[in-house]
Amino acid sequence: MTESTLAIRGARMLVNGELRRRDILVAGGRIAKIDRAVDAEAPTLDASGLVALPGAIDAHVHFREPGATHKEDWASGSRAALAGGVTTVLDMPNTTPPTTSAAALADKRRLASASSLVDWGLFFGLTERNLAEALAAQGIAGIKVYLGSSTGGLLVLSDATLDGLFAAYGGTVVVHAEDERLILQKLAGLGHAPLPLDHGRIRDVPGALEAVRRALEPAARHGGRLHVAHVSSPDEVEAVVRARAEGVRVTCEVTPHHLLLDESFVVAYGARGKVNPPLRPLPARDALWELVRAGAVDLVATDHAPHLLSEKDLAYPQAAAGLPSVELLLPLLLESAAERRLSLSDVVRLSSEAPARAFGIERKGRLEPEHDADIVLVDLLAVRSVNAAAIRSRCGWSPYAGRRLRGWPVYTLVRGHVAFGPSGYDASRRGREVTFRSAR
Ligand SMILES: [Zn+2]
Repeated sequence: MTESTLAIRGARMLVNGELRRRDILVAGGRIAKIDRAVDAEAPTLDASGLVALPGAIDAHVHFREPGATHKEDWASGSRAALAGGVTTVLDMPNTTPPTTSAAALADKRRLASASSLVDWGLFFGLTERNLAEALAAQGIAGIKVYLGSSTGGLLVLSDATLDGLFAAYGGTVVVHAEDERLILQKLAGLGHAPLPLDHGRIRDVPGALEAVRRALEPAARHGGRLHVAHVSSPDEVEAVVRARAEGVRVTCEVTPHHLLLDESFVVAYGARGKVNPPLRPLPARDALWELVRAGAVDLVATDHAPHLLSEKDLAYPQAAAGLPSVELLLPLLLESAAERRLSLSDVVRLSSEAPARAFGIERKGRLEPEHDADIVLVDLLAVRSVNAAAIRSRCGWSPYAGRRLRGWPVYTLVRGHVAFGPSGYDASRRGREVTFRSAR
């Protein structure tokens, strides 16, 4: 056999919702066979005691390259991803320069190809002036539209631009759903210099809901495909669920921080907890969990937004918005499974199957023959506390520092290559750009 092969032996994996002992044979970067025992000839990875899951797909990261490599780049971000069991990332366009032109897209492809250790896809950013260029972009994950301003200053204010996009685009439109006019109104009406806890008032749930409504309307009219990024309240999810029942092609994601942190983090840490959309009061978080368990929220994505603490721990108006978590994606979800808030099947659906399906990523998201051998071998019994000093992301901190989590990746394989394991990283192979069924 000329193709490189690997037999992962002794792992358990989910078979019809139950953990069963299975061997996995990998050949040429893909899963060749899953059986009780496979090919005795192939080199073996002994996975006794571990559970094999499909590699997580983080559909929302900010790897900051080009433009802000002091806090992350493709090399550091992809290493962090591997530690979190993430084998594919989709990167957002609000870099510097933004991914809003064919030249910027080509440049980011060159950078990711050169240094990412995980597979990757790129979003193209819409502005008020680049619709034709956005529509012409090939092979992208989708087009990102910011209806409210966030890091990077990409913003689409006009409903006409949004309508023009849905009228012409067959791929996935991802919206950052916070309404800029309502944000500015709330800010102006505040009556005092804004403090960290005002963030949730300035960017309140009605403002998020209005932006969701503005995106759903043209998606419904043109039959477009819409994905709502980082929902922060049950209200936004319910709007998505209602639209879906009416036939709109819409999905939504929730971040770990909107499930696991709430406004009390801002009380404790001030502007360090600034993120768009904001951390909400505890009842919203509890209601989100119910909707996640009920399957109303399609997927979990981190919105990994690395900033240095020196950029976070500032007065509220100057503090950077965003929280990092790509390297804790699976540990945070596996802890939620250990607490029985989710089943292991839910974890796989939310972190792998659903993102692959929502974005039409070919050969990803499942442990099945013919799929890429993106495999995470996790130790469900490993208990570790998040150590801020050991964070791999260049930002060097975590909002989850000190948390005790049960369930950690031991090996992370990208297309059959052991890129992360007990002896560290093997950076001898680079990630590749993924392909999208819906890509134009
Ligand atoms: Zn984001």
